Amino acid sequence: MPSITILGGGVAGLTLAATLDPTAHDVTVVERRPGYSRVPTAFGIWPFALAALERIKLADGLRERGLLLTSGVITADSTRRPVTMTMQDANTWLITRPALLELLDEAVPSTVERVERHVDDPTTLEGDLVVAADGARSVVRSHVWGDEPRNTGVVAIRGMLETPPATPADRMHEFWGDGMLAGVAPNPLPDHLGTNWYVSARRSAQSPEEALAWAREAYAGFPDLVRDTLAAATPERTVVNMILQSPRTRRLARERYVLVGDAAHAMAPNLGRGACEAMVDAIVLGEALNEHGLSGVRHYERARRRAGQRTKVAASAAMRLALAPRMSRGVVRVTGRRG
Ligand SMILES: Cc1cc2nc3c(=O)[nH]c(=O)nc-3n(C[C@H](O)[C@H](O)[C@H](O)COP(=O)(O)OP(=O)(O)OC[C@H]3O[C@@H](n4cnc5c(N)ncnc54)[C@H](O)[C@@H]3O)c2cc1C
Repeated sequence: MPSITILGGGVAGLTLAATLDPTAHDVTVVERRPGYSRVPTAFGIWPFALAALERIKLADGLRERGLLLTSGVITADSTRRPVTMTMQDANTWLITRPALLELLDEAVPSTVERVERHVDDPTTLEGDLVVAADGARSVVRSHVWGDEPRNTGVVAIRGMLETPPATPADRMHEFWGDGMLAGVAPNPLPDHLGTNWYVSARRSAQSPEEALAWAREAYAGFPDLVRDTLAAATPERTVVNMILQSPRTRRLARERYVLVGDAAHAMAPNLGRGACEAMVDAIVLGEALNEHGLSGVRHYERARRRAGQRTKVAASAAMRLALAPRMSRGVVRVTGRRG
């Protein structure tokens, strides 16, 4: 039976482990921090990812744990001309990262071996196939592909509140202006509705305390919704990430290694698509391996080589637009309801 080692038990790694046929493969997941998620911020899950989750029978579980956003309006007024974007029937789901990881984790067959270990050198990993599901700073990518992600110089500061947003519970607002972006959305916590918030700008990463102090001052001119949310936020419930972007790659597979998720295409978060693409990668790869054995890697590469790279380019353009210095304030409005 072919042995498959999945490096990384995040979104992509767990999705793949849940997709692989346990009677056809000997599967090991190597993860340095199982179950780690300090702050339950929310992800947007788009219809194409939900359709893929349907194929591995996890879409209902996501709907049960999530919040449905059905439509949205983006309006941003530039000093030169107004920009309005409308999303009708968006059918995008919000789910917290821990809830998504728990859903995926529960679907992993009990025969899959779990190893808790930080891997420095992926060439030491055993397995006929080694799947790099180890995220934006992938050690497989740097050791085998020989490249590193680019720091975009943009920081994302995000967090959550236990209380619902000070808006109708089914609405999400995003504000763009003066090279800064801020968003406030509902957060579907397990037994109540909380608030998910984020701000982004071109600057370096700081500690959550410093980042929050900076954000309160920098966004002081933004609407009450943003100011009040930042005032209520705490450093313990705040996460700070520099946005990384993978270099372009034409190959998703080399020797016995294959890239999925952020290891293949780390991207700006502005389209809310990274985890969605990661799950689709993993499901397409898992199905191809189930059907064709290890030569399924070639099918996966053909099917997914361009998709992630295209989304990465689009996400980068969306980030530049949202953070354009000449943009004066606008608003994104998305309505939603619990599933
Ligand atoms: C601010 C922000 C907002 C976002 N919002 C959205 C959104 O709304 N919708 C969406 O679809 N996506 C969103 N994303 C993107 C999403 O978070 C990622 O695309 C997704 O998590 C990628 O999944 P992955 O499994 O490839 O990597 P990860 O989720 O990063 O998982 C990698 C795993 O590998 C483990 N690992 C890494 N290196 C090693 C090692 N050397 N040894 C052992 N284990 C290792 C890590 O501990 C981790 O568990 C957002 C990202 C950011 C930064």
